[in-house]
This record gives sequence, structure tokens and C-alpha cells, in this order.
Amino acid sequence: MMEFIEQIRAIVGEKGVLTGDDVRSRPSTYWNHQPMQAAAIVRPASVAEVSACMRQCHEHGITVVPLGGNTGLVEGTACEPDQIMLSLERMNTIEQVDEVSRTVVVQAGTILQTVQAKVSEHQLMLPVDLGARGSCTIGGMIATNAGGFGVLRYGMMRERVLGLEAVLADGTVVSSMNGYLKNNTGYDLKQLFIGSEGTLGVVTRAVLRLEEHQTAETTALIALHSYSQVTQLLKHLDRALSGSLSAFEVMWGDFFALNTGEHSKLESPFAASYPFYVLVECQGNQADELRQRFELALEHAFENALLEDAVIAQSAGERASLWAIREISEPEERFFEITIGFDVSLSIADMDSYVSKVQGGLAQLASDATLLVFGHLADGNLHLTVGLHTPVDREAIEHLIYEGLKEYGGAISAEHGVGLEKKAYLAISRQPAELALMRQIKATLDPQNRLNPGKIFD
Ligand code: FAD
Ligand code: ZN
Repeated sequence: MMEFIEQIRAIVGEKGVLTGDDVRSRPSTYWNHQPMQAAAIVRPASVAEVSACMRQCHEHGITVVPLGGNTGLVEGTACEPDQIMLSLERMNTIEQVDEVSRTVVVQAGTILQTVQAKVSEHQLMLPVDLGARGSCTIGGMIATNAGGFGVLRYGMMRERVLGLEAVLADGTVVSSMNGYLKNNTGYDLKQLFIGSEGTLGVVTRAVLRLEEHQTAETTALIALHSYSQVTQLLKHLDRALSGSLSAFEVMWGDFFALNTGEHSKLESPFAASYPFYVLVECQGNQADELRQRFELALEHAFENALLEDAVIAQSAGERASLWAIREISEPEERFFEITIGFDVSLSIADMDSYVSKVQGGLAQLASDATLLVFGHLADGNLHLTVGLHTPVDREAIEHLIYEGLKEYGGAISAEHGVGLEKKAYLAISRQPAELALMRQIKATLDPQNRLNPGKIFD
């Protein structure tokens, strides 16, 4: 291995290789804070260097784990001592912002927030946004097909990628850096790499589709007494707001109560408690018109018994406070000894029934367990957190959550991916023929199984 690392050093230079304490001082993954195990972190500075490193690894039978900001939530960056981490952190240049075509060309190691800030100088926006914006990279977001807030209106990362460049396991550079929305010239190869969690190629650059910057937004927190109100309200607002609805984030009562209760610094703006709350936001460019339309839509919703109570943010500070109720994680960290998080997809109509069944099953597994439910309801995406005061059999809880999805045809991962964490359950969401085709694609692109092996499936 030492000799091999010296060969890599000859490609990427002194700054391009970290070993020893420089590796071990980093955490293994987002959840696992044990020291990182890799033989080295290799940090190429160009696609040519990535290609040369991959070729070298291919020839010497060395396994590679691609690394972005290490904010992935499914152990996709877990690495063994005889493997190397290939970090894109030195490939962090924003190469071009095109105001007319509304695109940005960016290297894969660039942090999301840096891209957001840069394009806003051009009155444009990259509308994929998530809590990890300060450390996740464009390459990692492409590799996981990240979602987050705003998917309802702007789509996931897949909808943002017009073109990309990737390096295969043998060092071949596949460049599909077209900036066109329409390009039906054979197979759309870039799609192979989006959401492939570093198992098919190393993403090195991308052309991303931007939107005109939206200068105004209106935000409300809404209280509801039934799930049918929640689903009717979504349809009503989507119609009434003519495409400007950009967030519809649901919170079940227990989640809201914890985040606004005695373990939290936040308070509920409502005097009473309700079983459901929704954080709604719309974006546009005419602040007054947007506000009027929003208020009218809420008034109609109230008159038609689609909501019980609502508060509209009157300032940026109030907006931030409402969003904080949805995003804060300290209360659950403070209140529970153990938390286990899930990220599932199922049709909106089935969510309430699914959650009730999980609640029932959980009460039988662990009497002191609490189920906290929230998520991007309009995207068919729920996040469930099981909060516990005493240890229980984790597998039994995973079984409950994932097996419960079967009768609804749900997906075990909505936006976080599979990584190591969910691979045992992949067959719940995928047919045997789909899994066989996935394996065939992997074998074609990476016949020696050198790129992030064991992630998604064995
Ligand atoms: P990493 O964690 O470094 O890597 C993730 C995976 O991609 C790994 O399998 C890795 O091998 C691979 N990879 C990384 N870079 C490359 C590359 N250049 N080429 C090929 N493969 C690569 N996700 C959502 O979808 N929606 C959310 O709302 C959301 N919120 C989050 C909030 C927080 C606080 C955190 C910590 C995470 C959140 N995530 C969310 C998880 C999300 O997957 C990541 O934040 C992000 O997409 C991963 O980017 P990263 O650069 O950190 O990738
Ligand atoms: Zn999410």
C-alpha cells in the first residue's frame, strides 16, 4: 500500500494525499464519529488527476470510496483500512454562470451554499436546498439525488442536472457536459450517475439548471384537526396559488409538541394543540400580489373548513422562527437517549393509515417509544424518528417501518439513498428484475467492483 500511495502522490502532488492523523482526525461518516479508516484520502485537483488516480487504482486492484462533504445519512462513505477515499474537496471552482441560459458550470467538490451565494449575485437561484447546505457538495448531492425543501416546485437534483462529467472505475472520462434542457440523442447517460451513490463513477463537474431569483416569499404555519384537511388543503393551495407554492411541510402533533414544548427554546404560536401542522410557503417576484393571493387562499381554506388556525409570518425573523420549528433537532437529542431516523416514500393518501399502523406496532415493541413524524408531504416523503429512553432491538424497529411499507408499495428511501444502512431492505422497494438490471449495470461500468463496493447492494 505504501508504494501505491507514493505512485498516487506522484499524480496529485504533496497536497493531494493525506495519510495518518490527517485521515484519522476526520469522522468516518456523518453518524459514525469513530476515526476515518481509509489508507489515504486522495485529493485530486483536476479531472485529469481523478482519471489518472482511478486508472492507477484499477491497475493495482485498489478500492475507492468517493467523498464529498460527508453529510450523507446512510453510511455511503464508510471506508475500510485497505481502501482509499477519493475526495473532491480541491475541485471547488465555479467555472461559469450563464445568465441567458440560466446555467452554472461547477466542479463537483463545490459546497452548495457557495453556489447558491454565487448565482444570487446574478439574480438567479439554485433551488435545491437542504439543512446541510453549508457542507454538502454538488457531487455528493448528484450522487445521492438530493431533495430537501422546494422539491414540490423545483424538483430534486436530477431535475437540476443538465450535463455532467464522470470518471469510471478504469479511469475513462465520460463527458456529457451539455447545457441543454432538450437533448434526445440516444441514452441519457448522465442519469446513470445521478443517485448512484458513488458506485458507478466519480462525478467531477456538472452543468446545473438555475431559476430566476424569487425576491418575495410568504410563509404560514397552519393547524389542522384531521389528515383529510391536510390533503384537501394541499390541493386547494396548489390550485389557488397558481404554481407559486414552494413548500408544504407537514408535522404530526407529537413532533410539533416536542419542538415547541419544555425541552425546546421555541414556542407554539397557537393557544391550543392540534394533531397536524403544516408549514406552507409560496415564492414570487411581486411581494404585494403574492401576499394578497396567499391571504385570500387561506381565507377561502378557513371558510371551507380546510384548516383550524393559521399564523402568517410578518417579518424575516418570524419566518425563520416558523421554519425553526420544522428544522430544530436539539429537543429530540435532549429528550431521548436513542433516536432512529427513517426516510420513506408512499402515496399521500396512504400516509395517515401507514403512520397509525407503525404507531400501533411500535407501542407493542417498546412501551416508552415515541414516533415523531414530519416531512415533505407534497413529495410523498415522510421522515419518521423513533425516540427511545431504553435500548431496543433496532432490527425489529427497522422491520416494522420497512415491512409496513409493503402493502402500500412504498419506498424504503425517499431522498437519502440506500448506502449501507438500507441495503438489507432494498428488495421491499424493488422487483427482482430491477435488482438484476442494477447489478448488470454495475458489472458493466465497474466489472472489478472497485467503486464504493457493498453500497446499495452486495
Ligand atoms: P457525501 O456524504 O460525502 O457522499 C454521499 C454519497 O455520495 C456517498 O455514497 C459518496 O460515496 C457519494 N459521493 C460523494 N461525492 C461524490 C462524487 N463527486 N462522485 C460520486 N459519488 C460521490 N438529503 C436530502 O435529500 N434532503 C434533505 O433535506 C437533506 N437534509 C440533510 C440535512 C442534514 C443536516 C444532513 C447532515 C444531511 C441531509 N441530507 C439531505 C443528506 C444528503 O444526502 C446530503 O446532505 C448530501 O446530498 C450529500 O452530499 P455530500 O457532499 O455530503 O456527500
Ligand atoms: Zn428531508
